[in-house]
Amino acid sequence: MKNPREELESLVEQGKLEELLIRAAILHGHYCPMLSLGVIAGVYAMRELRAENTGMEEVIAIVETNNCFSDGIQFVTGCTFGNNALIYRDVGKTAVTVVKRSADAIRMAVKPETFEILNRNPENRELFRMVIEERGGTEDDKKRLMKWLREVAFDLLKKNPEELFTIRKVQEKVPEFAPIHESVICETCGESVIVTRIVEKEGKKLCIPCAGARYYEISGKGVRQLKQYKNNEASSKRHS
Ligand SMILES: [Zn+2]
Ligand SMILES: [Zn+2]
Repeated sequence: MKNPREELESLVEQGKLEELLIRAAILHGHYCPMLSLGVIAGVYAMRELRAENTGMEEVIAIVETNNCFSDGIQFVTGCTFGNNALIYRDVGKTAVTVVKRSADAIRMAVKPETFEILNRNPENRELFRMVIEERGGTEDDKKRLMKWLREVAFDLLKKNPEELFTIRKVQEKVPEFAPIHESVICETCGESVIVTRIVEKEGKKLCIPCAGARYYEISGKGVRQLKQYKNNEASSKRHS
């Protein structure tokens, strides 16, 4: 059967960065420099490793940030949140390690000088602060900002990746395949839950919300630990 990513894989192989950025923006929603850097890094690493991906964890991408960069990586490498081939190592760097099973791994980190490209023009810098950081500005400000970000995104594609990133071969232990678990029905809400997330409470097998237990969450703030469901929160949802 044909790999559904065949067309993409061929664009990666040929290093067609513009075409890939245009397609990556369908996933990401807009053009921006970080998305562009994710596309560049993804293409470079996949070509270096001569990797193909059918979403069966033969290639793993370890991203160190949850900014726009990660969408470029997910799109180009095919390592996604849903196919368990994306690892989010929450250390706050715009960097990625692409690992091919039974082969080398490549880590690429955006150089500080590359970020400087974004700060070069004070007028655009101010626009960025107003629209993105303070979520303000007029419609016209937003349009001007998006136009500038789009220009920078496409300009970056013309640069040599070695200029933009520190790139090195690394030894990265290939992660085990994601485990497959059976599901259990929560005795309170009746929903199906992966067995490893079942909490035993007063002799009952419950899901985390029904048990009012703690859980992890990935949000814009990163991986956040030890949030806790309030028992009434879960039960009020059930009856609404
Ligand atoms: Zn973006
Ligand atoms: Zn439940």
